[in-house]
Amino acid sequence: MNCYICAGQGKETPAVAICIVCGMALCPDHLIREELPVWQDATVGMGVTRRRLPETMPRIVCEACHHALHQAA
Ligand SMILES: [Zn+2]
Ligand SMILES: [Zn+2]
Repeated sequence: MNCYICAGQGKETPAVAICIVCGMALCPDHLIREELPVWQDATVGMGVTRRRLPETMPRIVCEACHHALHQAA
């Protein structure tokens, strides 16, 4: 499969990843790798606290979906 964005520009670049939101095939130049925090609930006494774990979870999205996901921020 070739990169969808490159194909739109008349180029044929092999895709190395797929956007998990829209399913678009992406080359290294057009993918955006996000690092999502991972949370763990821990019960402390009577309450529950959330702690952020040191390792993040990678997520590959395309530029359009990246903007859509972050437009509120
Ligand atoms: Zn591309
Ligand atoms: Zn996408």
